[in-house]
This record gives sequence, C-alpha cells and structure tokens, in this order.
Amino acid sequence: MTIHGSQQGCAELSDAGASSDGSVGRCTEPAEDLTMAPARLDNTHRDLRDDEFWRAIPAYADLTAAEFHDHRFQSRNCVTSIRKLREVLGPRVSDAFCKDAEAGTMHSTMSLRISPYILSLIDWDAPETDPLRTQFLPLASRLRPDHPELALDSLNEQGDSPVEGLTHRYHDRALFLALDTCPVYCRFCTRSYSVGLDTEDVEKVHFGASSDRWERIFDYIRAHEELEDIVVSGGDMYNLRAEQITYLGNTLLDIDHIRRFRFATKGPAVMPQKLLTDDDWLSALTGVVEEGRRRHKLVAVHTHFNHPNEITQVTHQALNRLVEAGVTVRNQSVLQRGVNDDVQVMRCLVRRLGYVSVQPYYVFVHDMVRGVEELRTSLQTAIHLEKQVRGATAGYHMPTFILDTMGGGGKRHVHGHEHYDRTTGVAVFDSPVVRPGQQFLYLDPIDELSPEVQQRWADADARRQMIDDALASARGSDRSP
Ligand SMILES: *Cc1c(COP(=O)(O)O)cnc(C)c1O
Ligand code: SF4
Repeated sequence: MTIHGSQQGCAELSDAGASSDGSVGRCTEPAEDLTMAPARLDNTHRDLRDDEFWRAIPAYADLTAAEFHDHRFQSRNCVTSIRKLREVLGPRVSDAFCKDAEAGTMHSTMSLRISPYILSLIDWDAPETDPLRTQFLPLASRLRPDHPELALDSLNEQGDSPVEGLTHRYHDRALFLALDTCPVYCRFCTRSYSVGLDTEDVEKVHFGASSDRWERIFDYIRAHEELEDIVVSGGDMYNLRAEQITYLGNTLLDIDHIRRFRFATKGPAVMPQKLLTDDDWLSALTGVVEEGRRRHKLVAVHTHFNHPNEITQVTHQALNRLVEAGVTVRNQSVLQRGVNDDVQVMRCLVRRLGYVSVQPYYVFVHDMVRGVEELRTSLQTAIHLEKQVRGATAGYHMPTFILDTMGGGGKRHVHGHEHYDRTTGVAVFDSPVVRPGQQFLYLDPIDELSPEVQQRWADADARRQMIDDALASARGSDRSP
C-alpha cells in the first residue's frame, strides 16, 4: 500500500507518550476496569511507503527508481557537509535552518554523513521535528548542556580491551571492532570515541580494517576458549569489502570454540539498496551464513532501525533477499527523545520490524554520550514504554529494554534497577555477573528534572550527595540471601 504525503505511516491515535513527571507506576489511579475490551491496534505498520519519495528533493527529482535505488549512487552521494546539503535541497531548506545546522555540526563529536535514501525520507517541510533529521543532523538551537557526570567512552569499552579493537567484557562473548567507518554517521553513536573522522571537537582512536590488527584479534579469540560468540561491529561491516567478509567470517568459523557470531550493521536501515544491487557483497555475507549452517554454527545479522519511517517498500525487498537466504536478522534500537520515545511510534516500529521479518532484540536506553543530551530520555520513559509495548505482538518479537551501564557494568534490564529516585534522576544497578559487588549509575537528563533539583546538580557537593544517597539506598534495598 502506498502512503502519499504521510510521513508517519503510524496513524494510531497518539497518546501523550511517556510520562515525564514520574507519575506512572504510583498507585494513585483507580484500578483499571477489568471488563474493558482489549486495546484495538490498527494495522498501519503494514503501510510501507512505495512512492517515488526522492523526487521531492531537487537534486534527485529527475532520477528513476533504478538510478536512485542503486547502492553506488547512494554511497557516492552521501551528504557530508552543510554546503552539500544546501546544494541538494536548494529552496527546500531555509537559510536560518542551514545556519542552525552548521553551528550544530561544529559542536558535534560525530562527522556528518547522511545517505540520499535517509535524506529523502526526512520531511523537509518540518525538519526541526522530523525523527530522521533528529538522528543525523544536529541543530545548535536544540542542543542542551551535557550532564556534568558524563565521559566520552561512557561504556569504558577501551578499559575492557585486551587487544586494540576487541572488547572482552562478558565471559563467553566479545565485541570485535572490525573497522572505524560507517555508511552514515549517527549523532548519538556510543563509539563516538573511535568511529568516523576527527571532528572539530574530538580526536579519535582509529581502528582501520588493517590485517595486522585483525590477526592479533583472531589470536586472542583462539587463545580464549571461553569465547563462544563474537559481535562483529565497528564502525559498520557494511563498509567491508566482499573478500574481507568472507575472510573474517571463515576465520571465525574455523575456530572450534566459536559457536555463533553476528554481523552488526546499520546498513539495511540507511542504505537498503546495497542488499539489492551489490550482489558480490550479498553473496559474501550469505556465503558465510551458509558455511556456518554447514558447520552447525549460527551466524546472524543485527541491524539498527530506530523509527518506522526508515522502513519502506525498498527495505522490505532488501530484507527479503536475506530472508530467502535463511539469514536471521535481529534489530537493536536506541531510544531517543523526539524520535521513538512515544508509545504509538514504538509499537509501530516493533510491529513493522516483525512484518518485514526482523526480530526486535533490544531497545537501548540512550548511553550517556557527549553532545546529544537532548536525545536522552529518563529511565522512567523506558520503563513506561516497555509496559506499553509488551502485548502488542508475539513475545518472541518483544524487544528487551536494556540499559548499558556507564563505566562498563554491562547491560541491565530497565526494570532491574536496585534503586531509582525519579526526583534526582539517579538510578543504581548491580551487575552480579560482569562486575560482582560494584554499583553502576544511570542519570536522567537534567532538563527533565525540577528546577530545584537542576540547581543541586549545578553544585559539585550536592551532586556527590545525591549520588552517594542513591548508592546507599541501593545497598539497603539488597534483599539477596
Ligand atoms: C552488547 C555487548 C555484547 C553482546 O551482548 P548480548 O547481550 O549478547 O547482545 C558483547 N560485548 C560487549 C562489550 C557488548 O557491549
Ligand atoms: S552506524 Fe553504528 S557505529 Fe556507525 S555511527 Fe551509527 S551507531 Fe555508530
């Protein structure tokens, strides 16, 4: 079905979204009427755009579907500067907006890179609030000061790296940063310490796809028999050449104790065309999956859709090629304010992913990274969304809402906090497997707290006190035997 003019494809009556006042969960509301019929959901998640949406962009107006949906066109024409953005959009974008974006990119830890596909799906009549614009193009006017407790490598991935480009935090699995480039750059990237080109603000640690570095990583994996599962990430494996995928995949499959691995890529969400027109690349990927199957090992693809608007008819066709080859595709989303922190949007995303045969796996609470404070949500928002989404589709398509703790405590379920003070916005988590005996924090965005509490965060002593109090309460609440 085609949607003309509608960007959303998600027409369910919008409720207020997540409560930001923390009132959800308090027992002040009257009990629900148990005789009420189950909520009726509509089927708009099936309405994938199949119009020639790129023709609304002046620079692409004359392109045929075959020209636009070619991965070479897509990767060669990524927008990497505001000057280029102006050229491509012409009169569709105002001077004021461009100035705002120019100033926004100056403060960004990530370089700018937006595919023509994503650019064309942005509603340029209302770019300020568009959920895709929000993810890829910073606006200075929307930026908020960073939380005072925030660090660049917030997950301490570098601290858990025995060899350059490998993070071994969990006993049986490791994260292999195969390269440091991506088909696009997301503003909110957790790996802003390494991914992308150096920006005005940040000089990065570089992980090129160099063979020496890979060999040292393979040696480490071979020597560590406890490892069964590897996450091949980056950067983004979409940017690996076909022969690199074959080599990397077969080398991992050759290691006896490696039973499964995943290729993590944002590619299908931002440049689905590659799966349709880069046959060598696709066969390298499906070849590794098939070889894995022959050896009774599981190789999956983990992708990264954040909003239903990213999934069009072209995405469906692209994913169908993976489905036909028997590739399991799972999705990891990042929860972002103004993008997907709304009940109807999140329900639609989860059901639309299922509709195109992608299994929703995780929804991550936004990490505490620099320069994107306006994108973070409170933990309460994630807790509320989880409750509102569960039940909207099959349990095996229900993503787990996860928080990756600052400082390397690993992933914890959003409902699994030991203590959460919604007034100060301090949450405390234990992590018995990854860091037994230690406590980890998540701190809600300051601007969502009351003015009085915001004042306290501005003062170093008061700040320490709020954190210490929360840690003490968490210890007191530990009822384990
Ligand atoms: C997320 C992550 C993994 C994989 O964890 P799963 O819960 O199995 O998806 C592995 N290593 C690191 C460092 C990670 O952050
Ligand atoms: S594609 Fe992934 S690794 Fe690359 S910038 Fe986006 S979130 Fe970061």
